[in-house]
Amino acid sequence: MDFTVKKYKELLQSLKVQGYKFQTFERFLDNPAPKSIILRHDVDLLPSNSLRFAKIQNELGINGTYYFRAVPESWDENVIIQIAAMGHEIGYHYENLTTCKGDLKKGIYDFEKNLTNLRNLAPVFTICMHGSPMSKYDSKDLWKKFSYKDYDIIGEPYFDIDFNDVFYITDTGRRWDGNKVSVRDRVETSFKLSFHATQEIIDFADKGKLPNKIMFTFHPQRWSDNLIIWSKELVLQNVKNIIKKYFFVSN
Ligand SMILES: [Zn+2]
Repeated sequence: MDFTVKKYKELLQSLKVQGYKFQTFERFLDNPAPKSIILRHDVDLLPSNSLRFAKIQNELGINGTYYFRAVPESWDENVIIQIAAMGHEIGYHYENLTTCKGDLKKGIYDFEKNLTNLRNLAPVFTICMHGSPMSKYDSKDLWKKFSYKDYDIIGEPYFDIDFNDVFYITDTGRRWDGNKVSVRDRVETSFKLSFHATQEIIDFADKGKLPNKIMFTFHPQRWSDNLIIWSKELVLQNVKNIIKKYFFVSN
């Protein structure tokens, strides 16, 4: 079975053996190591799963970056504080143009308010857009008019990473090649490398064939050792993929 916590641990271990430096996105922007991995987590829902990931990393002596949404299903202050205390990076998973229905002025106000609230819990230097596939608004459009640098934000992965240099891989759709059906979680890249199952990445890593710089995006709510939750998420994801495929593929 794939996308279990067990498989997740195996993946981290095999990456660690290869000598990668695990950098938070903030540290990477500051001073990228020649062989580095950014473990990015989009905490869309079930923050307790992210806490579990954070603890596993902590046990391995590595750090990741966790992006929280300003909605009840993601925003768990207890979890945010605990994850920050382990030395992981906390960031804001913004979706202000979705919540404010495309209104830029309301959107930036909403952004500022949520960022301030998050900064009351942990230092925040990077942000990352939440894709909201069902929404017609792309929250990245906020930055056509405003600049996040004005808010002491040093980076947003979709703008501040050269994905020809950094290999991007995401568990979108609970497979590693699912960004083909993703509406917004796509990047321009020249890497001709694609994986489906986690084991394929592990095998590749074990042979020392993975690129030197990688950003992994995890949605920890998709990873579980509980078969019932695992199946529920699978069914939900398949329904979503079908909807995306037939209704949003032209977006
Ligand atoms: Zn998200």
